[in-house]
Amino acid sequence: MQDYTGIETPFYLYDMGLLERTLSAANESAAAHGYHLHYAIKANHEREILSRINAHGIGADCVSGGELSTALYAGFSPGTTVFAGVGKSDEEIVYALENNIYCLNCESVEELEVIAGLARQMGKVARVALRVNPGVDAHTHHHITTGLEENKFGIQPAQLQKALDICAASESIRFMGLHFHIGSQITGPGPFLALCDRVNQLWREFRIQEYGGRMLNLGGGLGINYADPDGDPVPDFESFFAIFAQNLRLPGAVSVHFELGRSLVGQCGTLITKVLYVKEGVNKTFVITDAGMTELLRPALYQAVHKIENLASKSPARCYDVVGPACESTDVFASQVSLPATTRGDLLAIRSAGAYGQSMSLRYNQRRQAQAYFNREEITSPENVSAELFLPDFV
Ligand SMILES: *Cc1c(COP(=O)(O)O)cnc(C)c1O
Repeated sequence: MQDYTGIETPFYLYDMGLLERTLSAANESAAAHGYHLHYAIKANHEREILSRINAHGIGADCVSGGELSTALYAGFSPGTTVFAGVGKSDEEIVYALENNIYCLNCESVEELEVIAGLARQMGKVARVALRVNPGVDAHTHHHITTGLEENKFGIQPAQLQKALDICAASESIRFMGLHFHIGSQITGPGPFLALCDRVNQLWREFRIQEYGGRMLNLGGGLGINYADPDGDPVPDFESFFAIFAQNLRLPGAVSVHFELGRSLVGQCGTLITKVLYVKEGVNKTFVITDAGMTELLRPALYQAVHKIENLASKSPARCYDVVGPACESTDVFASQVSLPATTRGDLLAIRSAGAYGQSMSLRYNQRRQAQAYFNREEITSPENVSAELFLPDFV
């Protein structure tokens, strides 16, 4: 087993070799169709990861002024940076305009009027895409669905004509095109096929080309394999982009953009945590770890299931509930999972934690923030991490 002596647990471990392979695969598959990629910073904003992504020429996708400042500080070019979000403050809009970012993805008629007013005051022309809520079911967990009528995101098609008219009438707005993002952790082609159909229809119905629209941003959402991170470490970007290449029917030249988050960084991250106690309950046995919802919120927030491995024990399997230390009943990583017989001091690897893991960490219960460690070479599984690879590369 890897010797983690002297490293304070819990900590995040990033496999930079896998990240490199993933970024190359995504870039190659997108380039085959001339598609443009942006990275959704909210998935993981660790500096080391951002700089690798930026080095691959992928642009930034931000959902707050803080993310925008993080992206620019990490070296992303404003010219490839996009900014979405239903609640952009005036300060955030001004900051985006000052930095001349590529495009503001506007989520309401109300916001559009504010952007137009602020740009006019600043003597600027704001590049704006309209985020449309297409009413497409992402068939994912309801807490990470964003493209349904009941979701707060985007402009309803019934309001789209009004938004287009405002764009056409305002000299401080340059209309770029349409933006969509239907949800996250989408694992089948169905929702993306439905999105293509809806985009084709809306583009024609609202004569987007005649309004000067030459840009289509389809958001992110491509899922990863949480059940089998070793068998399926790099998402199938080729098939993903092929869906759009085969099904989008747009008149004229339109530059097509995607904003990938989870699929780029999800599999390269592992949360390493130490077992504090193995506690006998009435009908179950609890493995209590030193990481909890404060380090990895996804299970508590939307019942996400991450693969858990015991790095120390090869003993015959037993059934456990793996739980964190926080004073919340939802602080549970896994219920009734099979793990090798586990004892105090064992290290567990919680896999596929690269996206929406560290970036969502909380100071709740006055917890200290977990550190991040990076390696340069390949780690196919945490068990394969060798001390030589790992130790010199602490940052
Ligand atoms: C979160 C988000 C993304 C990325 O989603 P993934 O499922 O991680 O690929 C893309 N675009 C917008 C607008 C988002 O909010």
